[in-house]
Amino acid sequence: MQYTDKVLEHFTNPCNIGEILDADGVGNSGSPECGDTLRVWIKVENEHLVDIKYRVFGCPAAVACCSMMTELATGMHVDEAAELTDDQVAEALGGLPEQKYHCSNIAASGLYDAIMSYALKSHRQDKTLFLSVLVENTATEGFSSEHGLSFWIEYGGKHILFDTGQSDLILRNAKKLNVDLSQADAIVLSHGHYDHTGGLKEVLEKASEAMIYLHPDAPKVRYSCKHGKPPRQISMPQACCQSLSDAVPKGKVVYTEKPERIYPGVMLTGPIPRIMNYEDTGGAFYNDFECTISDGIVDDQALLIDTPKGLVVVLGCAHSGVVNTLRYAAKLSGQRQVYAVIGGAHLLNASNERIEKTIEVFKNYRLQKIGLAHCTGDKAVKKIETAFPEQCFVCSAGAQIKL
Ligand SMILES: [Zn+2]
Ligand SMILES: [Zn+2]
Ligand SMILES: [Zn+2]
Repeated sequence: MQYTDKVLEHFTNPCNIGEILDADGVGNSGSPECGDTLRVWIKVENEHLVDIKYRVFGCPAAVACCSMMTELATGMHVDEAAELTDDQVAEALGGLPEQKYHCSNIAASGLYDAIMSYALKSHRQDKTLFLSVLVENTATEGFSSEHGLSFWIEYGGKHILFDTGQSDLILRNAKKLNVDLSQADAIVLSHGHYDHTGGLKEVLEKASEAMIYLHPDAPKVRYSCKHGKPPRQISMPQACCQSLSDAVPKGKVVYTEKPERIYPGVMLTGPIPRIMNYEDTGGAFYNDFECTISDGIVDDQALLIDTPKGLVVVLGCAHSGVVNTLRYAAKLSGQRQVYAVIGGAHLLNASNERIEKTIEVFKNYRLQKIGLAHCTGDKAVKKIETAFPEQCFVCSAGAQIKL
């Protein structure tokens, strides 16, 4: 039998033989008439094959095909790997003896089988919402914190970055969480404050393909004017405004002046109607250094995700008021209950009365998961935890939450 050098090389030194215990997909192939059988295990991360292992019983050609297949497919996107054919594997080996083509050339078929089993499974997993906290005012062990907020959300096969924190800290925390920011399909800015947008420049250097969603007022100049202190500029940093402007001609920016459906079951509220008389923006916010033009932060928006468990509301700072936000979320989704609320509620300056009323509304919406963080304020967080001991969860940088 005439084998090419490549076949002999892979047969004598085959790569990636073995099994993967926690495999994401398993496939079989073989030709019973010749006795060659193959079982393939795959590990998938962010839709890419990060590991492929196999057990094969067969002739040198069968072993070489499997070895070559793993070499070709490792690192590929699953869709690309599913296109790989047995002929391409044989070709990469410099060809196979004629009589071996049909019985031993089974590697790509086995891989395809494994990818299909992954696709079926991942479709089920698609319906779970995974949220990683990249930036928050507090951090779990091994992570760093800053005043700011950023969530990485995986849902329905999409990756959504919600806010960016205030600095490049997002990059370091993302790395520790194995979050690949370049995989972002969408970047959502809840509003223009620096602690939600300051990491945008660094993020866009990685996630150049992502669509960016924000209200046109987000890049506005704005100040916080606390009594007895000099006005402090809290707008989106200039460099981030620049990266944003650079993305506009590439067709990557979507302005959300009204509710915007971004993926199946995923929606942005756009500006939120201010209805409740006991809610305000939560601080002394102005658009000028002299603090004469009051900033209503109309750019404030929430992300709504309609999961099988119920409606999930993701907040940046909820400058529109968390109750106004929940009301609007319920209206837009046509649902009377809200399953989860997560993010900043900006209640740090809120009166006891406002906090009590907010708790009442949480009860009315039958909230089952509450992850209030960032600028919610210790007093409000304590009161809410007391009212909902079972429902509250910690939302610090480094936390990974399954909803
Ligand atoms: Zn804010
Ligand atoms: Zn806030
Ligand atoms: Zn904030």
